[in-house]
Amino acid sequence: MLLKPWPGLEIKTRTMSRIHTERHRTHSIGWLRAAVLGANDGIVSTASLIIGVAAANATQSAVLVAGVAGLVAGAMSMAAGEYVSVSSQFDTEQADIARERHELATDSARETAELAGIYVQRGLDADLAQQVATQLMAKDALGAHARDELGISEVVSARPLQAAWASAGAFTVGAGLPLASAWLSPERHLTLVVGATSLLFLVLLGGLAAYTGGAPIARGVARVTFWGALAMAITAGVGRLFGVVA
Ligand SMILES: [Zn+2]
Repeated sequence: MLLKPWPGLEIKTRTMSRIHTERHRTHSIGWLRAAVLGANDGIVSTASLIIGVAAANATQSAVLVAGVAGLVAGAMSMAAGEYVSVSSQFDTEQADIARERHELATDSARETAELAGIYVQRGLDADLAQQVATQLMAKDALGAHARDELGISEVVSARPLQAAWASAGAFTVGAGLPLASAWLSPERHLTLVVGATSLLFLVLLGGLAAYTGGAPIARGVARVTFWGALAMAITAGVGRLFGVVA
């Protein structure tokens, strides 16, 4: 439970989930999107790195060392980037909640009117909105304002550490696929095997992402494989160039 200042939220959420039976994509979309993007990054960047180093005539063990280094570096940078960006979102949320708590303490009448105004905008008539606002202010004023005015709730609140771990984990799983292919492949077919298997993984990932996101599968697959293939082709070219020059 992230937002410690208002203990009532956790209990409310549990009660709500007992009543709320149908599952909406938004419940999992956040996590899925981060996982798919992380895994996609892992496959494309590590496969390209492996193919680029292999194209420069490096030995299989040198290629594997470069692949492992790429996996670790990529996972750490994904985790760091996610942690920093989600932490700043967390800080913003906390600052908004602190300001809201101050406003509630100094002018609760105006805050009640503000809440009623939000409910009128959502379609309630003025009397009912006033009634609802008054009752919610009495039950959990900060919770009501955070949820209905600031849009901060248990489902969407920032979790920097979880986001960092999820991102690094997804990247590692993604990067592990071309790395395993490189390790299992005969040395003379390494570039071809890593390229083909990585494109296959991207097709599966692109299809999964499109399917669970409710988007057209063909377009999702085409998009992710096009950019993946382009990245691998360019690094293979650069690697070949360095292989000739070196
Ligand atoms: Zn307010």
